[in-house]
Amino acid sequence: TSLSHIRNFSIIAHIDHGKSTLADRLIQFTGGLTDREMTEQVLDNMDIERERGITIKAQTVRLNYTAKDGETYELSLMDTPGHVDFAYEVSRSLAACEGALLVVDAAQGVEAQTLANVYQSIEHDHEIVPVINKIDLPAAEPEKVRAEIEEIIGIDASEAVLSSAKSGIGIEDILEAIVTKIPPPSGDRDAPLKAMLVDSWYDPYLGVVILVRVIDGVLKKGMQVKFMAGGTQHLIDRTGCFRPKIEQVAEIGPGEIGFITAQIKEVAHAKVGDTITTVKGGAEKALAGFKEVQSVVFCGLFPVDAADFEKLRESIGKLRLNDASFSFEMETSAALGQGFRCGFLGLLHLEIIQERLSREYDLDLITTAPSVVYKMEMTDGSIKYLHNPADMPDPVKIRAIEEPWIKAVIYCPDEYLGGILKLCQDRRGVQTDLTYVGGRAQMTYELPLNEVVFDFYDRLKSISRGYASFDYEQIGTQVGQLVKMNILVNAEPVDALSMIVHRDAAEARGRHICERMKDLIPRHMFKIPVQASIGGKVIARETIAAMRKDVTAKCYGGDISRKKKLLEKQKKGKKKMREYGNVSIPQEAFIAALRMG
Ligand code: GDP
Ligand code: MG
Repeated sequence: TSLSHIRNFSIIAHIDHGKSTLADRLIQFTGGLTDREMTEQVLDNMDIERERGITIKAQTVRLNYTAKDGETYELSLMDTPGHVDFAYEVSRSLAACEGALLVVDAAQGVEAQTLANVYQSIEHDHEIVPVINKIDLPAAEPEKVRAEIEEIIGIDASEAVLSSAKSGIGIEDILEAIVTKIPPPSGDRDAPLKAMLVDSWYDPYLGVVILVRVIDGVLKKGMQVKFMAGGTQHLIDRTGCFRPKIEQVAEIGPGEIGFITAQIKEVAHAKVGDTITTVKGGAEKALAGFKEVQSVVFCGLFPVDAADFEKLRESIGKLRLNDASFSFEMETSAALGQGFRCGFLGLLHLEIIQERLSREYDLDLITTAPSVVYKMEMTDGSIKYLHNPADMPDPVKIRAIEEPWIKAVIYCPDEYLGGILKLCQDRRGVQTDLTYVGGRAQMTYELPLNEVVFDFYDRLKSISRGYASFDYEQIGTQVGQLVKMNILVNAEPVDALSMIVHRDAAEARGRHICERMKDLIPRHMFKIPVQASIGGKVIARETIAAMRKDVTAKCYGGDISRKKKLLEKQKKGKKKMREYGNVSIPQEAFIAALRMG
């Protein structure tokens, strides 16, 4: 297709504003799907994506649209990942496009995530086409939202398209706006090949599938190409596109988005943002913007039942096949046995992997306290990175500890402002901006990531009854007064609960965890002390009283079959328990204790 007839665009929307529904409508309108196929939402296909309303992997659909000018255009719609943890993937998807549809819910208005994505889109010089969706809702206020888009985002919304993805209103107007407002790509067919690797995933039939945007040159079957950052060479055996059904094409030319396969075994070899060029006569300079993925949040994953270790290893390996952005290595814990230390892009990413392991692979897991990466300057001048509180060196050998900080933008209706300000303050936040726009507050805070990884997001949602939205980016590290806190049950440290905390917050958090553990650990035949300590000094303490005699007497008297039954019951229960200093701790306690309520 000639450059002038290509349009590449993404859809920016806050969660639930109708991105997927609208995408499906565009596909349906241009004939990619029959009405019957429309009943299933196409773009979100994984269960978890659907339930959480987020897109984990970018998906692209090529549409042919015959516009009112009589010409047929090739439109590529790129669905970008919908969460801040995937900000880098989003940036590469945006870099593959020339424009974006900004979808805003006519009843909800502009939200923080929309803002962050719009600014990113503007940075990529995108032409932004505003769409005010859900105008069918009784609570829709399209004119108010139009003004909000102009006021808050600062783009002209006078020609915003009014739509209802649900009832199919305004779909053709959106397609016309894409053709007339979004500029065609530029590129040189005769220049050396330069294609950006936008995304990759593992397909059981095709192997690793790579989504590309060709900048210059042409990609064809049989070409020998190299990945400039990855340093590998591959023979292309297939070029195609999704409509959304898979279709092979003869070539992917300049300005076009499509997929290739090249007998690649692991997605880890296909790095998002890499430049693909020919082995002979290829481009000399790679495209700008490539970054290696880096794990931000770490935690240990251990099987509740030690016999499940091999199953866990296999399952993690399978997940990794399709997600190169999480890392893992074996970890042995004194009390939890063998498991894995895993690294994630963020908290949500961690939750997704955890959920998939338990749901798709049917594994009962203990997740240790999530931790960020600390940079330690040692007294001998060396620099060390700490991923696991268990590996904390002797504090006398540490000169300073730096922790990662983030800049967070929170957006909420005025009435919840007080609660949110307090939450941010409690988490050592530093306010850098606070503005009001039409009954809503927008705050910018700098916060230690450490304080956000526990349950910040959950708290924010509960304080604001779900109305606050939150978005963040990392802004480097700062020295902090950080210490390792141990939790001891019956005088034995519970490694899954040890954590790095700020000195000022240690006592409160220690007390909270002890109180929680007191409620979560069932009574035993003896008294159980639960303590929080820093460097051997106890900073908080609770005691679980012993079981009353007459209760235990029942267990050990009585007839033999009853005893047997009890033993069996106990055995079953044990599967979900962990032993610490002769104390059985239920699995839920590990996670529940970390929540700060
Ligand atoms: P996404 O998270 O942005 O992908 O949003 P979805 O497309 O999944 O839509 C979120 C919810 O809003 C779903 O329940 C949709 O059925 C609903 N929805 C989407 N578009 C419209 C619309 O135009 N009108 C109404 N009333 N509901 C819509
Ligand atoms: Mg969606």
